[in-house]
Amino acid sequence: MFIGHFAVAFAAKKVAPKVSLGTLIFAAVFLDAVWPVLVLLGVERFRIVPGFTAVNAFDFVHYPWSHSLLMTVVWSFLLGFAYFRARGDRVGGLWVGIAVASHWLLDFVSHRPDMPLYPGGNARFGLSLWNSLPATFAVEGLMFAAGVAIYARHTRAKGRNGTIAWWALVGLLLALYIPGPWSPPPPNQQVVAWMGLALLAIFVPWGYWIARPRQVAPAGA
Ligand SMILES: [Zn+2]
Repeated sequence: MFIGHFAVAFAAKKVAPKVSLGTLIFAAVFLDAVWPVLVLLGVERFRIVPGFTAVNAFDFVHYPWSHSLLMTVVWSFLLGFAYFRARGDRVGGLWVGIAVASHWLLDFVSHRPDMPLYPGGNARFGLSLWNSLPATFAVEGLMFAAGVAIYARHTRAKGRNGTIAWWALVGLLLALYIPGPWSPPPPNQQVVAWMGLALLAIFVPWGYWIARPRQVAPAGA
């Protein structure tokens, strides 16, 4: 799942208004921040198999440290607690943790049965939403639309920058997401990993930056 994780980050702004959108994006995609690093280090492995699912060519062979259920719980606690310690915002810390955990659930729905419960475990889980392109676009598209609507409703643009920065973010995510299934498979694993890190390097700072020209709407607005 791709823009579905962003949908979670956008929607979380409603329940965790004090947490910057950059932090919420980082939390929601955190497992996919750990994953490329471990791929580049040779700790986790995946194969590029054209046509492996209707949506992409990724066969996730081994990724227990970034994407097992147990490690997701560990990462969720670590990030949630780190946020709480840094900001003293208990509610914010709780939602940062939930945003991290949501990633596993959404990947579990999308991936083929390749998600382990814990490092070393043999059982693999996944509901294979990616086997259907229309179903993937429907589910992820609706989630994204809902997330965008919730964020737009609960924040206010301070001037034109606040409007442009937000809608450009939404537009760029869609422009990257929609052509995916029709694009040629990536040449190798390293390119995929670096592209994943590049996306983080763009969208997390963008989320922090947007907090200036876009602020939380006053209660009742
Ligand atoms: Zn993932």
